[in-house]
Amino acid sequence: MTAVDVSAVAKSYGKVDVLSDISTHFPQGSFTSLLGPSGSGKTTLLRIIAGFVIPDRGTVTIGGRDVTSVPVWDRNIGMVFQSYALFPHMSVADNVAFGLARRGIKGEAARREVERALEMVRLPGFGTRKPKQLSGGQQQRVALARAIVTRPSVLLLDEPLSALDRRLRQEMQVELVRIQRESGLTTIFVTHDQEEALTLSDKVAILDRGRIVQIGEPTEVYERPANRFAAEFLGDTNFLQGTVEAEGTVSAHGQRIASAIALPPAGHSVTLAVRPEKIEIRDASGDGGHGTQPPANQLSAVILASIYSGTAITYEAEAAGGLRLKIFAQNRDARLRSPGEPVTLSWSADHTVPLAG
Ligand code: ADP
Repeated sequence: MTAVDVSAVAKSYGKVDVLSDISTHFPQGSFTSLLGPSGSGKTTLLRIIAGFVIPDRGTVTIGGRDVTSVPVWDRNIGMVFQSYALFPHMSVADNVAFGLARRGIKGEAARREVERALEMVRLPGFGTRKPKQLSGGQQQRVALARAIVTRPSVLLLDEPLSALDRRLRQEMQVELVRIQRESGLTTIFVTHDQEEALTLSDKVAILDRGRIVQIGEPTEVYERPANRFAAEFLGDTNFLQGTVEAEGTVSAHGQRIASAIALPPAGHSVTLAVRPEKIEIRDASGDGGHGTQPPANQLSAVILASIYSGTAITYEAEAAGGLRLKIFAQNRDARLRSPGEPVTLSWSADHTVPLAG
């Protein structure tokens, strides 16, 4: 049993509330990302779980055991930092064995555990090398081996891939997921990279100024952002400000917008989010080939601008009432629509997401 639970945790430095009332459950064997902009409190939360920082209030339990006042070395965690923090004068094997020696595991038993950890990170036989004889990606694998060699119950990762270049980072992402799946370690991963969080995680927790504003599976947090911050931080979004007319209908900029998601009562103002890639763009005259079931939202608009980026084209268009929308179109026919061109924009009511707050 190695679920991690954080309950009503708060931390301030002086007058600055870094974390306010954080409660969350990290299920056993799950991979959760803590995602948020710089300064949102991700690292502080990770360090509280690790035991490097003591919260002002609240508790941390690991596998049902209250560890709030248990020192780092007694929490049975493995941790990897952004910088590899390997000892340069020590061999790879000695670096990896470091945590074992502290636990009194030596000799043949230690050698076996080190080789097992190096195999896990796909560096078998690298034990005699020095860190400087390894590439950046290999050094980070050694840091990972060092974190898992003691067979911890929880793996804590603080932006471990951010020092690597893009290709290496993608390679390591795949490795990290494989190691996590094989080891079954409950893993908590700090990142400010949205794509990385969506790609790697079972769950993503979005932090804003010391609070978790949303936690859910990647598709859930992307498709159904809870509030404006979550919608904006995780990808691109069009925001439409309107007033609820009736169930399923919002009046915004003189347009009637349909939403299939529960809205506030009629008369209330509401912010709607529509992702740019959910909007289809077609010739103003075309019927779009939707058959008998046209999308709930269809607006006449005019192209204002287009940006060609190879795989996709980003359009900005303006509908009646001055409603401006950003649209991501797949580059299927390589025809770039020009400013002034009349178009029809359409999207499904499922993709009009009302936001809280
Ligand atoms: P993140 O990991 O999301 O970038 P951090 O948890 O590192 O955020 O920091 C959150 C806030 O707490 C920042 O404003 C930072 O300056 C502040 N902070 C973190 N650690 C300390 C500390 N030891 N003393 C004072 N302020 C700190």
